[in-house]
Amino acid sequence: MIVNLSKQHSFISNWVSELRDVNIQNDRMRFRRNLERIGEVAAYEISKVLPFVEKEIQTPLGTAVHKVLKEQPVLATILRAGLPMHQGLLNYFDQADNAFISAFRKHHKDGSFEISLDYVSCPELEKRILIISDPMLATGSSLVKTIHFLKGEGRPSAIHIVSAIACTVGIEYVQREEPSVTIWCGDIDDELTAKGYIVPGLGDAGDLAYGNKLQM
Ligand code: URA
Repeated sequence: MIVNLSKQHSFISNWVSELRDVNIQNDRMRFRRNLERIGEVAAYEISKVLPFVEKEIQTPLGTAVHKVLKEQPVLATILRAGLPMHQGLLNYFDQADNAFISAFRKHHKDGSFEISLDYVSCPELEKRILIISDPMLATGSSLVKTIHFLKGEGRPSAIHIVSAIACTVGIEYVQREEPSVTIWCGDIDDELTAKGYIVPGLGDAGDLAYGNKLQM
């Protein structure tokens, strides 16, 4: 399932427009904060489909019954571009366990690239709700590789993906490989360049958030 959070008029569309805008996106603090805010709203939207249980709460004057989240999810992100969005999710799922994955594009001389998975730190995943943030769902290869790897560590009960911008080709690839995932995104673009950049997209999310890197 795919949920485009910009479909209804909301702040998400505003924040995605600022992420894309060449006259605004060079303000790194704002760029990171907009990704974080999208993560926060996605957390709120995802919470609506998560299991809740009733809990009796003792107040100073009596008792109140409230529905509370049944279990905290595991929040996973792909370094480094995923960090601001991960923080947004963590602001709401504030007691969640966390997983960090380093998946990067290893570039070849002919311009092609392969996804390399390096560092992985993750908690128990068996029967847990897994929410993976990756701001740019481009080809979908790093996400699928990450999901396959994490599933080897334990089978989550549900997997949610949160992206600022998702590309149609990448969405289709993820859905083909992992039909049960739900993708929550800030917007959907149709084009992908030969180098795997989303068009119109926003450029390189990691560089915009944290500065240019040397090409390895
Ligand atoms: N990663 C990015 O940062 N931007 C893209 O357009 C695709 C992948």
